[in-house]
Amino acid sequence: MVGGNWKCNGTKESIETLCASLSTLELPSDANVEVMIAPSSLHATMTRSLLPEVYQIGVQNCWTGKGGAFTGESSAEMIKDLGIDWVIIGHSERRHLPILKESDETIAQKVAYALEKGLKVMPCIGELLEEREAGKTNEVNERQLKAIADAVTDWTNVVLAYEPVWAIGTGKVATPEQAQEVHAHLRAWISDNVSVEVAQSVRILYGGSVSPKNCEELSKQPDVDGFLVGGASLKPDFITVIKSYE
Ligand code: PGA
Repeated sequence: MVGGNWKCNGTKESIETLCASLSTLELPSDANVEVMIAPSSLHATMTRSLLPEVYQIGVQNCWTGKGGAFTGESSAEMIKDLGIDWVIIGHSERRHLPILKESDETIAQKVAYALEKGLKVMPCIGELLEEREAGKTNEVNERQLKAIADAVTDWTNVVLAYEPVWAIGTGKVATPEQAQEVHAHLRAWISDNVSVEVAQSVRILYGGSVSPKNCEELSKQPDVDGFLVGGASLKPDFITVIKSYE
């Protein structure tokens, strides 16, 4: 699976232009890759109408529970009602931006509620640079993953994204070996703590400065089942990244 996270970017005009380019994507009939684009919530419906069905649409956040008096939020029910299939939850920019500071607990609540309402969810985990340098990569990812795993009863609609924070938007991509090492560790954790079946079937995407230049090597890693792409998903050659999994 390859996801594009457009973050807080786009105008009507830039999205029309980008969608026209992305609409040229042709996948072979036996292609084994799902594609999801997550524009801003404001642009989700418009993007849906501009892209062919091969693209699924997601948003980048949702409220923790049922809607109501929560100014500025969007509930899972609203997202579902608009025909949007996916929601990214717990992106590092929501965990770490000082104004947002989402906790493991909040993220777990969002995951549980979105799944209950029939959305497909893409929870994100990943360590900060100082955590990696302190040898805490596995500890941090296990803690974040455990909070999510505790909130999931059925993994069918869950695709996990591992995004080392030091690689996001920095151009400093994890090496294929670094990505594979963490992905294998996460899969082993899922095998031990959830089930062998879920460990085998759940897709674990890598995110962090994925580009048309580095996607080929990363895609060859046995435990890297796809990508979540930020900056490079705003350009027409995002198609090259998608095609690395066709
Ligand atoms: P990036 O972002 O590809 O621009 O590094 C990835 C992400 O934040 O999902």
